[in-house]
Parts: sequence; C-alpha cells; structure tokens
Amino acid sequence: MRNLKKGWSKGTLVVLLAIGFVYLGVFLSHHFQEITVNKPINHSKNETINRAIAKGPAPEEIIEDTDDLRLEKKERIRKQQEQAIAWRIQLEREKSNVKESTTKEPAAAKPATNATTSSEQTTKESKPAQSEQPNTQPAQSEQPNTPPANPVPQKTVYLTFDDGPSVFSGQIIALLEKYRYKATFFMIDGNIRRYPNAVKLMVQSGETVGLHSVSHNPKIFYASAASIIAELTQNRNTLKEISGVDSYIMRTPYGSVPYMTEEYRKAVHDKGYLMWDWNIDSRDWDYKDARYVNSVITQLNQLANHNGPIVILLHERRETLAHLPQLLDFLSKQGWMSKAIDSSMTPVQFKP
Ligand SMILES: [Zn+2]
Repeated sequence: MRNLKKGWSKGTLVVLLAIGFVYLGVFLSHHFQEITVNKPINHSKNETINRAIAKGPAPEEIIEDTDDLRLEKKERIRKQQEQAIAWRIQLEREKSNVKESTTKEPAAAKPATNATTSSEQTTKESKPAQSEQPNTQPAQSEQPNTPPANPVPQKTVYLTFDDGPSVFSGQIIALLEKYRYKATFFMIDGNIRRYPNAVKLMVQSGETVGLHSVSHNPKIFYASAASIIAELTQNRNTLKEISGVDSYIMRTPYGSVPYMTEEYRKAVHDKGYLMWDWNIDSRDWDYKDARYVNSVITQLNQLANHNGPIVILLHERRETLAHLPQLLDFLSKQGWMSKAIDSSMTPVQFKP
C-alpha cells in the first residue's frame, strides 16, 4: 500500500512537473516576444505579434522615428542659432570696447564742455560778412532734418586751418594730438619761411600741409591764370624746401567763388592742383570769440545727412585757439573723428 501510494504519487508528480514546464515554456515565449517586439508603447498583444511576423516597424514607430529626427534637427538648428547669436554678441561687445577705448580717452582727458547749441548764441550769428570769406552757405540748402537711418559707425570731419603757420601752430597741433585728431593746414608762403619749425612739426605729426598763396591778396592772386599758377608754384617750392613735402593740395585765398573763372580752374587743374573749399565756415575770423564753436555745431547738425567729406574752415588765430578745446571736446563726445585731407580725395568745391 505504501509502495503503491509512493508509485502513484511519483507518477503524478512527474506529470504535474511536465505540465508545469509546458506552461512555463509558453509563458516565457510570450513574455520574450513582448519584450523584444513591443518595446516602445502599450500595443495590444495581437498587434505586437502581427508586427513581429511582418518584421517591420509599426506605423506609430515610423512617426515616432521621424519625430525624433525632426526634434534632433530642430535641436541642432536651435543650437546653431544660439551659437551664432552668442558669436554676434561677442563681436559687438568687442567692437564697442574698441570704440570706447578710442573715444573715451580724449573725452575723459578734457573738462566738461561749455559748448552748447543754445539758441541765444546761435541767433546772434547773422552779422554781415566782411570782405573775407564770402561763401558761407554752399552745402546748407541740401540738408534734410531727419537723422540718418543707418548712422555710419565713424563720423568724420576734416578740420582745416588757414593762413598759418603761426605762433599758435604748435599749440593747435598739441590739442589735436590730445584727441588723436588730424587736420589740414593751408599755409601762406611768407609764413612758411617765418615759422619753418611749425611746418616741420605738422609733417611729423601727420597733418596735411597745403598751399594758400603768396600774396593772399585777391587783386594780385586772381589777376590772371598766370599769376595764380606763379603764386602756387612759389608756395609749393617753399613748402617743399622747408618740409620736404611736395604738396598739390591747395586752397585759394577767400575760397574759389566768385574769383575762380572757368579759365583759372582749368589752369590749376591742368597743373595738377587739388583745390579745396569748405562746407562749414566757422566764421572764427568774424566772431573772434567762442561763438564760432556754436556756429560750427549748428552747421554740423544741419549736415547730418551730408554725403561726402565735411570740411570745416578755421584760422590760425589766437581766439580760434582759445576756444578750440571746446570745439574738439564737443566733436569727440559726439563721436566725430577728424582726419587730414589726402590727395586721393575728391576736393570739396563751391559751385561756380
Ligand atoms: Zn586765407
């Protein structure tokens, strides 16, 4: 009985174990199918199996894949854009640093300016012009009042000093140097001989040296084409002898209008001279005080949209020098640079 019981129970155990293994096998095979095929999301078993049979990705998976790609692409583009923006910001920062370091120093080196555009001072401007400098209006009619849409990063004026050299030349140059400004000096023959060291200093400092006649007398200078050429030739030879510079850059006494006839213009042009007038007359020769500074500022504002060089007429005079710091301070604070005229430039001339 015990043996029989044992025998039966052994058989039962074997059968039960066999059934258990079969079930386990079925379960495991289903389970692994699910794991390998149905990874991404909860699909129904049937779908999973069908897909596994078709051996292709589910439509959802295709969409998911392309979405992933799109996301990846978007992410990449976003990163590139971020890099580009960061790069641009850095460039702009560097640029503004350069600008600051070039404009700050001169501004900081000077006391605050008194130069204002107060209407009180600018309205006093209209004194009748003396026989000197009759042409003060040339470029003024061209200016619209609106500021430029795309302001140029570096605004430039061309400061010019006539009638020197003089005892003031050295101080004028020292002031210009303080602002890292350059200027052009139109000089009279006799003064070049009188102040040779001033001329040499100009050349050493990188200023442009130009001609401005021998007589500085309209009746003598403008007597004929021959007299004009003779004065300019002498003037040029003297300058060359003293400074070593053979300059053809010149300004006729009191400006070209109304004196320079068609014949005269052709004569100087044929000899290679570059005749420069101006488009801002400081009227320092007339005011003989600080008002000339406001006069320049007012005219400069009117020339905001001007195309071409802005040429400012000044003179080597005591009063001009006295208020020159004010003018240079204003220009510097407003971001103006001053350069010297060079012979590659097309001269600014009055319309005859
Ligand atoms: Zn002059």
